[in-house]
Amino acid sequence: MSNETRFANFIGGAFVDSTASGTIDVINPSTGEIISRIPDSTVEETRHAIDAAESAQAAWAKRPAIERAGYLRKIAQKIRDNADRLAHTIAEEQGKIMGLATVEANFTADYIDYMAEWARRYEGEIIQSDRPNEHIFMFKMPIGVVGGILPWNFPFFLIARKMAPALLTGNTIVIKPSEETPNNCYEFAKLVAETDLPPGVFNVVFGRGATVGQEISANAKIGMISFTGSVDTGSRIMAAAARNITKVSLELGGKAPAIVMNDANLDLAARSIRDSRIINSGQVCNCAERVYVQRKAADEFIGKLAAEMSSVHYGNPLADLTVDMGPLINEQGYRKVESLVAGALQAGAQVVTGGKRADRGSGFYFEPTVLTGVKQDFEIMHKEIFGPVLPVVVFDDLDEAVAMANDSEYGLTSSIYTQNLDIAMRACREIKFGETYVNRENFEAMQGFHAGWRKSGIGGADGKHGLEEYLQTRMVYIQY
Ligand code: NAD
Repeated sequence: MSNETRFANFIGGAFVDSTASGTIDVINPSTGEIISRIPDSTVEETRHAIDAAESAQAAWAKRPAIERAGYLRKIAQKIRDNADRLAHTIAEEQGKIMGLATVEANFTADYIDYMAEWARRYEGEIIQSDRPNEHIFMFKMPIGVVGGILPWNFPFFLIARKMAPALLTGNTIVIKPSEETPNNCYEFAKLVAETDLPPGVFNVVFGRGATVGQEISANAKIGMISFTGSVDTGSRIMAAAARNITKVSLELGGKAPAIVMNDANLDLAARSIRDSRIINSGQVCNCAERVYVQRKAADEFIGKLAAEMSSVHYGNPLADLTVDMGPLINEQGYRKVESLVAGALQAGAQVVTGGKRADRGSGFYFEPTVLTGVKQDFEIMHKEIFGPVLPVVVFDDLDEAVAMANDSEYGLTSSIYTQNLDIAMRACREIKFGETYVNRENFEAMQGFHAGWRKSGIGGADGKHGLEEYLQTRMVYIQY
């Protein structure tokens, strides 16, 4: 797998050698070493994939949904059979610990199977007419060709989160993986190629956002763009999509507040917030990014949180299978974390534990960090950190905590720790976020609906409502 140069895209059911002159290096973030190269694919190659998806779509949509589900189940089984190998690829190029990478591979298979279950369940409606002798039908139709543009942080699962509902509902798809983590997508395509999925239903183009991603966003043959990534890129995609009034579903960044009340189980809160913040080295859209603790509980809670964070064992996930946490994705990610921490310290915050780049050889490691003396107006309380750093602000009453939690351009996930049901219910009503967790942190359920408010996105994924994103409605009026 390592040092492999991959010049092929997956188009029309086959690996097609890229005509691109350039390649993109893929780096192992745990060591800084180049592990593979992918094609820096061109706009023409992207169009070729979109054309293949378009040609395949009508025949695919004509198949009964239960048949489409059968193809999905075969892919899920292939993933399950190869989960260990896939987990290694995910860990190698993304820096995830092996335990989590294995969960990601298996969860991906479970997710595809779950979406396949909807084959017999999604339905249209028959509506009463005001006229005599008329039937009114509401059909749920596929949109056409979906463009799936992916980030690097859950690279394998996010292929399925887009591909499974898209294909089940009769759409075809062109996937563009992140240039940071393309290898797992290559493996995904190899597994698809081993099944009898009709050519053109699932396509992959490797390359950069500015070429492949931009073309998917602006191409008139794309019926819907399903994007997961940063707010800045989401905004650019929306602007490009506006030209053709293309539907967009955007899963963007987060700045999840975790509120800890005086009456909370502080051991549980400290453990849960720590787990949330170190999972994938803090590079998860919905993990706790900022902590608010009520004054009476503050000292005790901060002590517990610091103990939890300083006990995190981290390092190269492939060299040491016992680590709790791996590196950050790249130098840029590392610099962002470092700069937000430096800004907070300059503004008056104090380090309780961690606070700097960790010495683990050549990878991109940052110490698990807790900062106190932080104020709501610090930059670190508003920008996505995407690293193992927890800034803590002390508050007096729930109103103040809710106001600070809501003071964010993001609105994805949030949490509160309390043993008082009234407080929990009030917070759930007043916190303006797409998801609120009581006495636990992420993750969301595949049968729920993962959707951000404000700049965290438009539309959403998972469950019945996530499936419906990939459908459009057609009304039919029959006079008889
Ligand atoms: P990113 O926005 O930098 O890149 C995401 C993808 O967009 C990549 O494939 C990239 O090549 C592509 N891209 C870049 N420029 C483009 C353009 N002009 N047109 C089209 N495509 C373009 O994001 P990232 O750094 O890979 O991922 C991290 C971000 O993703 C974080 O903000 C995180 O919160 C977010 N995220 C959100 C969710 C969610 O469910 N809300 C889940 C995972 C990650």
